[in-house]
Amino acid sequence: MDLRYSESDLVFRAELREWLTRSLADLADPPARDDWPARVRYDTHWQRRLFDGGYAGMSWPREYGGRDASPSEQLIFLEETTRARAPYVGVNFVGTLHCGPTLIAEGTDDQKRDHLPKILSGDEVWCQCFSEPDAGSDLAGLRTRAVRDGDHYVVTGQKTWCSFGHVGDFGELLVRTDPDVSKHRGITWLILPMDLPGIEVRPIETVLGSSEFCEVFFDEVRVPVENRVGAENDGWRVTNVTLSFERGTAFVSEMVDALRMAEELAPSVHDVAERRELAHVVAELDGLWALTKRNVSQAARDGSPGRGAFMLKLAYSEARDRLGELCMRVLDRGAFDVHDERVEERLRTLSIPIAAGTSQIQRNIISERLLGLPKEQQWAKSS
Ligand SMILES: Cc1cc2nc3c(=O)[nH]c(=O)nc-3n(C[C@H](O)[C@H](O)[C@H](O)COP(=O)(O)OP(=O)(O)OC[C@H]3O[C@@H](n4cnc5c(N)ncnc54)[C@H](O)[C@@H]3O)c2cc1C
Repeated sequence: MDLRYSESDLVFRAELREWLTRSLADLADPPARDDWPARVRYDTHWQRRLFDGGYAGMSWPREYGGRDASPSEQLIFLEETTRARAPYVGVNFVGTLHCGPTLIAEGTDDQKRDHLPKILSGDEVWCQCFSEPDAGSDLAGLRTRAVRDGDHYVVTGQKTWCSFGHVGDFGELLVRTDPDVSKHRGITWLILPMDLPGIEVRPIETVLGSSEFCEVFFDEVRVPVENRVGAENDGWRVTNVTLSFERGTAFVSEMVDALRMAEELAPSVHDVAERRELAHVVAELDGLWALTKRNVSQAARDGSPGRGAFMLKLAYSEARDRLGELCMRVLDRGAFDVHDERVEERLRTLSIPIAAGTSQIQRNIISERLLGLPKEQQWAKSS
């Protein structure tokens, strides 16, 4: 793969830069963190502008409203939107960064036609209903049950940590459709309309003072069978497609943002040892940008980011964690204000090594699936 940008890439960059300058000039300030109706309006409005400008769904097929852009254009898009401080993807995170890509890879034609253009235009906000109180790291141990009844699945159970659950129109839902086979085999992936009768969403307030995620309760919720993505009981395979995007490319725009933040922190860091620490973080983020180029190229070629996805999430989480810790040290813990971007950085980064699978789990996956080391249980038995 060629890491250099071509002449036509540079033309694309100049056009995008000009479009961003124009489009950001009259954009209102972002709303308060806990004003969710305003946040949804703000994020979906920006998504609509991207869509109208031809910059939504950079890698997505044109027939569903995407741009079908080359990998290098996708990377330039990330670099330029971050440089221009364009709004973060916000409530469109799940839809644009991992649900849409999953539907492109695994959805039926009807599912693609029904959802992809609306995700890109900001008309559909998505959330993810994967984790349960006893199934986070051990996601395959999920127990939310779905029983087939004619043309519907009847869903009963509970999900938790569902980001944007209280503002989502649709959810990525994992259910157990066969409790009598091994746990990875009896799972099904469903498209969940969040307004179905029997769904109760309870927001959870975080340390940042807003409800970023929710508990979701299901009481005999009837989900049409046509909402199934992939075959019945083949949901674990589809889940791994979703996770490969969530871990492999979804964090990328945050990563570019972390690089910007690290550079902005530099003038405040006077201690030599701390300057060295900062330089290490910057070098790591720089290296991860090269890995991102590889992941994006592979996703464009093979439909999913592949092995690089395993490393990106782990290495990024750890670099970001060190950056957050350094921010707090430089700031001095006395100056504790959650509205200060650098304090917020620290508090938010505490969650990154947990979200989308913890760092311990990423290490297990890398050791077992990439390095071929013995599986966790076999190791425990033989040691
Ligand atoms: C900001 C944020 C957003 C999130 N958004 C969503 C969302 O939208 N939808 C959703 O479904 N979920 C979401 N989650 C949930 C997330 O996926 C889980 O929190 C995560 O998978 C860990 O699961 P758990 O919280 O149940 O922790 P547990 O699985 O209970 O783990 C507790 C600790 O034990 C360690 N551990 C567990 N098993 C092992 C093992 N086998 N080997 C070594 N260590 C182990 C873990 O690493 C962790 O440190 C979100 C989480 C965060 C923090």
